[in-house]
Amino acid sequence: MTSTKELKNDSWDDWRWQLDNSITTLEALRDHLNLAPEEENAFHKVGKRYVFQVTPYYLSLMDRNDPNDPVRLQALPNVKELADIYHIDQLPSFHRSGVESENPLWKEGKTDVKCIVHRYPDRVLFHLTNLCPTYCRHCSRKVHASHDSIVSDRSLIDRGISYIEARPEIRDVLLSGGDPLTIGDNKIEYVVSRLRQLPHVQIIRIGTRTPVTLPQRITPEFCQMIKKYHPIWINTQFNHPNEVTLEAKLAIERLLEAGVPVGNQSVLLKGINDSVDVMKRLVHALVMARVRPYYLYHADLVRGAEHFRTSIAEGIHIIENLRGHTSGFAVPQYVICTPLGKTPLNPNYLIGSGPGHIALRNYEWRTWKDPDA
Ligand code: SF4
Repeated sequence: MTSTKELKNDSWDDWRWQLDNSITTLEALRDHLNLAPEEENAFHKVGKRYVFQVTPYYLSLMDRNDPNDPVRLQALPNVKELADIYHIDQLPSFHRSGVESENPLWKEGKTDVKCIVHRYPDRVLFHLTNLCPTYCRHCSRKVHASHDSIVSDRSLIDRGISYIEARPEIRDVLLSGGDPLTIGDNKIEYVVSRLRQLPHVQIIRIGTRTPVTLPQRITPEFCQMIKKYHPIWINTQFNHPNEVTLEAKLAIERLLEAGVPVGNQSVLLKGINDSVDVMKRLVHALVMARVRPYYLYHADLVRGAEHFRTSIAEGIHIIENLRGHTSGFAVPQYVICTPLGKTPLNPNYLIGSGPGHIALRNYEWRTWKDPDA
């Protein structure tokens, strides 16, 4: 492993130092990792299309010598991101459907206010920035992070709030990005305090990967501020047990002490967490940290992230080997995002029915007939 001592200094716990000193060049990366020739090659080629940036903290979680390290795979460019140019999709076992899009989540629910996506009647996504501390290679919005990096300015934010104010059916607002916690507390407080003045906004959620890639961002000051505006929920994205570090657990602890429930929305990623063993270790690490494993997303149809996609059968197999084999609240709901919205995917436990009864099976495939009204 790369020793954090090589990277750490007195400013290590300062999130702004982490952002200001994020690694963006091949030279800086070489100082900390022994790169394989294909990784160097990918850095040059892929960098022309997609941005690269990793915080010193997230870099410190990577194995110095292993190109297949699960943290490294999430953050370092891979030439497979250019599958459409190099026809890598013609290789066996490459899951490319031909309908991948640059930005699948944003096709539905667009409004005339650029920072608001309104897909479900009672919920909106409020886009505050395209910036992220670390750019995940599997991100469903990776092209926008690359070429359209913006922070929503005050007038756009005000238009977003006016949009919500004018629609009393909106009861749930998800602050999103990019990563909304790349912006400062003052701006976050401005948005949250304005939303709290709208009686119909019951829930404010923040979608952020900072507990994973920049846990220093969850400062006591941020927690003091945010607790004034409850109910606030945070959803994050741990994808591998190696990410559940002491620093991450401290960030979560601070959020929980401030009364902010923390849920996890993993993405099922080939070569990273697509095994029962890894997923079980991940959900156990999360519940030990008091984070609820909430969703397991089937990887989206994103151009440049096809190589992360597994089959649905692989996802179901993982859930099959979690449900009944560990605590129920540790089992995430496996979902796929389609143009129709999120759709749950589950193993089938109802295996038949007849007059007045149903046939069920349990996690060990033992069967049972139960009366049905
Ligand atoms: S932090 Fe979220 S929005 Fe940013 S690159 Fe990663 S997955 Fe995408």
